[in-house]
Amino acid sequence: MQIEKEIQAIKEQIEVWKHGAYSIGFVPTMGYLHEGHLSLIKRSVKENDKTVVSIFVNPTQFAPTEDLESYPRDFEADATICEKAGVDLIFHPQVEDMYPSGASTFVDVEGLTKELCGKSRPTHFRGVCTVVCKLFHIVEPDYAYFGQKDAQQFAVIKRMVRDLNMKVEVIACPIIREADGLAKSSRNVYLSEKERAAALVLSKAIFQSERLMQVGEQSVTRILTKMKETIASEPLVQIDYIEIVNCDSIEKLERIKGTVLVAAAIFVGKTRLIDNVIYTVR
Ligand code: AMP
Repeated sequence: MQIEKEIQAIKEQIEVWKHGAYSIGFVPTMGYLHEGHLSLIKRSVKENDKTVVSIFVNPTQFAPTEDLESYPRDFEADATICEKAGVDLIFHPQVEDMYPSGASTFVDVEGLTKELCGKSRPTHFRGVCTVVCKLFHIVEPDYAYFGQKDAQQFAVIKRMVRDLNMKVEVIACPIIREADGLAKSSRNVYLSEKERAAALVLSKAIFQSERLMQVGEQSVTRILTKMKETIASEPLVQIDYIEIVNCDSIEKLERIKGTVLVAAAIFVGKTRLIDNVIYTVR
């Protein structure tokens, strides 16, 4: 497995692989890898001749008040995980190379970035789209793998790829959870024992919404009310948002129809956690 910091070195390697007609799978991450990331990596390794994983804590997707400085990092452990999984190349760029002084170009997907996470993190998706666009230009993947854990992010990136005629095909992979239901996240490490226990109401509320839809509940208001009751039962938790939207357009719904995304974000102490379920009405 190769590890590269330099953009030019990555481009040269990619050119060699393109010349050899190898298919290239790509998994962009911020590192501190867990089984959620690993599931994307394994899928890419299985489906492509070469797999590139990027490990880059992208500053432009953090607001000044957020956890950029404290975001967990462990490059050695990440490299071991990648090597074992059969990754061919880790791209681990420096901030000053990705954003040279004077960098002033951003990719902004309008509309669907305004809802859900975009409401409480208004500059977040601009940072995500900018870095993913840059990474796609550097790595030139045939396929790029994202987690449904960040369902809005996936919808936004899919839109960017379509709108900007990018050649890559983006693929969403299922949410990987702890045994008790909590969605795996690099940020779970911030939780104290008490907070970790309290955080469980998030997945509980998400599963509750899925059960309600499965038995035919069509009222968004009724589902949201029940979910809010579940979350309110835990005093350590504050709701950032709970919404039910169309899965692709991220537009709010009144009735459950088509493919819906039930998405929620909570604060447990200072830690912000997200979770969701996608449900298609038959
Ligand atoms: P991050 O390092 O948090 O930016 O995540 C990198 C990629 O891993 C994103 O596409 C995430 O959606 C995905 N991911 C993170 N957590 C999970 C999870 N629990 N299950 C599946 N994918 C995940």
